[in-house]
Amino acid sequence: STTSQTADVLVLGGGPGGYVAAIRAAQLGFSVTCIEADKTLGGTCVTVGCIPSKALLQSSEHYEWLRLHAAEHGVKVEGATVDLPAMMARKTDVVAQNTKGIEFLFRKNKITWAKGFGTLKTGNVVEVKDTDGNVTSWQGKHVIIATGSVPVQLPFLPFDEQRVLSNVGALQIPEVPKHLIVIGGGVIGLELGSVWRRLGAKVTVVEFAPTILPGNDDDVIKEADKILRKQGLEIHTGTKVTGADVRADGVTIHAEKDGAALSFDGDYVLVSVGRKPSLSGVDAAALGLALGQRGEIAVNDQMRTNLPNVFAIGDVVGGKLLAHKAEDEGVIAAEVIAGKPVHMHYRTMPGVVYTWPEIATVGLTEQEVKASGRAYRVGKFPFSANGRARTMGETQGFVKFVVDKDSDEILGCHMIGPHVADNLAQVVLAMEYRGSAEDIAITVHSHPTLSETVKEAALSALGRALHM
Ligand code: FAD
Repeated sequence: STTSQTADVLVLGGGPGGYVAAIRAAQLGFSVTCIEADKTLGGTCVTVGCIPSKALLQSSEHYEWLRLHAAEHGVKVEGATVDLPAMMARKTDVVAQNTKGIEFLFRKNKITWAKGFGTLKTGNVVEVKDTDGNVTSWQGKHVIIATGSVPVQLPFLPFDEQRVLSNVGALQIPEVPKHLIVIGGGVIGLELGSVWRRLGAKVTVVEFAPTILPGNDDDVIKEADKILRKQGLEIHTGTKVTGADVRADGVTIHAEKDGAALSFDGDYVLVSVGRKPSLSGVDAAALGLALGQRGEIAVNDQMRTNLPNVFAIGDVVGGKLLAHKAEDEGVIAAEVIAGKPVHMHYRTMPGVVYTWPEIATVGLTEQEVKASGRAYRVGKFPFSANGRARTMGETQGFVKFVVDKDSDEILGCHMIGPHVADNLAQVVLAMEYRGSAEDIAITVHSHPTLSETVKEAALSALGRALHM
């Protein structure tokens, strides 16, 4: 049977982009329907991305800390072992707390969740087919496409989620692998590789680019490479994977480095070579919807597509594939629909790698500023010179500023160290206000805190660090 319904705003996809757009649109007084095919709301981030990966990173880091660092603090722990089913059950529970939380927010804001697979038709209609085959045709005044992204496959190594894993399989391996091969040394590969290494797997990372974490600041990449290798990750950069043999009990990866052949035998392989926009339910050609060069939906800075009253946000529009980017774009789309004169800007978009130590970055890297020809200064401060970091026994890493030579305006900030994901927020705020190193340097920071490293690095950019 087919029924017809209407709403002011239809949101296709219930990930961080879609569900936040739905909430903001509802706050602005619109009737909102969010179409989500999955059995829960939350999208990649909440179900198979940010949240479950951070749960496992936290649990595995506790285990590593007990084994390797507790004794330094005079805490004796004997016989710490991993109960993998319990760890996985906790992860599942944390995910459920978040998906239930979004359902609560939908009820609170009177947002309708149309459960089922949506297909966008011309005239701002989304046809939603539920698992029983019932079809509801939703007509909206405005449509926001938030269909997200999917992992890129290697043609000779398709995902089976048994031995050849995407992020989905790598978050639920039923045993600690003996040897996990990770193809791709970006954020997802290093985070999930770290989880399984801490739990006892040998982990080999194979990266095609000359370094891990391509695109990050050179100093941060060097430090991360050194620390991660010391932790036991085997890293092969400048190495191209050329083929694979998949067996019932494992996989052999063939690769090439500087013209020489290499091969790796593992029981599992994680392919984390990138993600691409998901246009499921969106036939761009039939709709006349314009796409960009990488197959992403083309939008302007108000998240408008080329089609009237059709917006797109999140991973499906490309750029940095980050949950907080998707959320902010969702807010912008909802506010533009409400007639507010707002637009998206990306200058202060932070990015974090949740390894331990963490890596956090905002703005331009030193090499980007150098290439632009702008005169600049660098300020740097190590965690080894920070009192709080010493009390914690967490002295690896540093904070680095890149500032304009004349005005001191902060152009970029790059950190590797304990809890830098949270420490970065003050710099993002300063940059949002077009702040300078001097602004941070004159700000009082509590002592002793890790946040003082930011003040000291800003002072260092001004040539007057106090504790170095
Ligand atoms: P998605 O979250 O992908 O949501 C899209 C939703 O749309 C899905 O639920 C899908 O089922 C639904 N959908 C698609 N098509 C249809 C259709 N036709 N009908 C109905 N429903 C449909 N980002 C961070 O900022 N921090 C992190 O720590 C982080 N960690 C990550 C770890 C991993 C392992 C991965 C894979 C990603 C991580 N990300 C992280 C990235 C983050 O998950 C994404 O940037 C974010 O989920 C994008 O949100 P979105 O709303 O655009 O799309």
